[in-house]
Amino acid sequence: MIWKFVRSVLSEKNDDYTFYPFKEDRLNLNQKEAGLYIHIPFCKSMCPYCPYYKISYDQELSHKFKSALILEIKRSGEEIGSNKFTSLYIGGGTPTLMINDLGTIIKEVKESFNFDGPVGIETTPGDLTEDKVKIMKDMGINYVSLGVQSFQQENLDSIGRKYTAQTAVETVSLLKHYHFDTLNIDLIFAFARQKLPQLLQDLQKAVELSPDQITCYPLFTFPYSTIARYNNVRNLKMPRHRVRRNMYYLIHDFLEKSGYIRSSVWSFGKAGTAPYSSVTRDYYLGFGPSAGTYTGEGFYFNVFSVPEYIKTAPQRKPVALEMKVGKRMEKIFWLYWRLYETFVPVSNYKKLYGNDIYADFGSLLKLIKALGFVGSEDEERFVLNKRGCHWIHLAQNYFALNYISKIWSIAQKNTWPGKITL
Ligand code: SF4
Repeated sequence: MIWKFVRSVLSEKNDDYTFYPFKEDRLNLNQKEAGLYIHIPFCKSMCPYCPYYKISYDQELSHKFKSALILEIKRSGEEIGSNKFTSLYIGGGTPTLMINDLGTIIKEVKESFNFDGPVGIETTPGDLTEDKVKIMKDMGINYVSLGVQSFQQENLDSIGRKYTAQTAVETVSLLKHYHFDTLNIDLIFAFARQKLPQLLQDLQKAVELSPDQITCYPLFTFPYSTIARYNNVRNLKMPRHRVRRNMYYLIHDFLEKSGYIRSSVWSFGKAGTAPYSSVTRDYYLGFGPSAGTYTGEGFYFNVFSVPEYIKTAPQRKPVALEMKVGKRMEKIFWLYWRLYETFVPVSNYKKLYGNDIYADFGSLLKLIKALGFVGSEDEERFVLNKRGCHWIHLAQNYFALNYISKIWSIAQKNTWPGKITL
């Protein structure tokens, strides 16, 4: 309710937060610099908490998917490949299930786009072997994000992860041994019944293994995920707000004391490390089923179905949904992602939009300061403090559980949905 109110205060009268079926035949980036994202929609087993679009791995289907993906990349390259593209993230699903195809896919990206930047990939301890790590190294992967989630067997079992705590430790060590530019590990907190000492144990283990970046998410129980239904039946609840706040503060205090520096509401990195961050590009182009694209003029989602994707990609861009974005909405999204990064470069705003940020968002920024969310401020930027980060993390929860969950759950049930109003 409160966030809807905030949105209505920030937006302009005609801003329409509704996705409609995609009617155009191409996307337009207007020479903007952008990032690239590829969604590999296969997993070996289905984690019950996972909201992402994925299906069980099937080799024959993965070959057809690869052909469709190459077609989508080629076509986009012909349309807007001369723009500058500065990063490529490969997520999923479990991209390393298609390790033998990734080299061809990355090569196609490099041939189709004016691409110069790092290549990042997500993976999981349940899928990684030394042979796969060597292939990743040989194909020029720079950043790796490993979904460890926890170093405690009880936690891994509770969310249906199919590897042992020991495997998680060994996989982090294996990746460290191969020296990627950035190694991120994901940890989950706020498991049902989790207490602060158990969270601390996970953080201590993570710091001992010394990855370049540590990202801590609360366990999101998306309403349509299996775990949310299970928790409802068993009456299991996430820890209450006060406990979660204490967990969030513990993560902040412990990781900063251990030499990590906050780089977003969820992530902490070592000094001098490039952050692994697939979501904070100003503009991005997504490929593969369910992949999102943001051009500044609109948000788009590809169709959430591998068979439909394979059928559609040879004929046209397989986009199912689009939401037009006006100038004011574009500025709101920019501010949203800067707050997500926990600092707002006010001088960049002027360069991008020609206006003073205080002229456009003065009341909101005054409110953020009055609430005591800002730690430091100068002419260039202002930086959120621990309290501010915590509140932005709550806004992120709201955003994920209301907006993203709504789009993803409808799009997974109905392949070519009608309109979706947020
Ligand atoms: S959490 Fe990762 S490995 Fe598990 S189902 Fe989701 S995408 Fe697959």
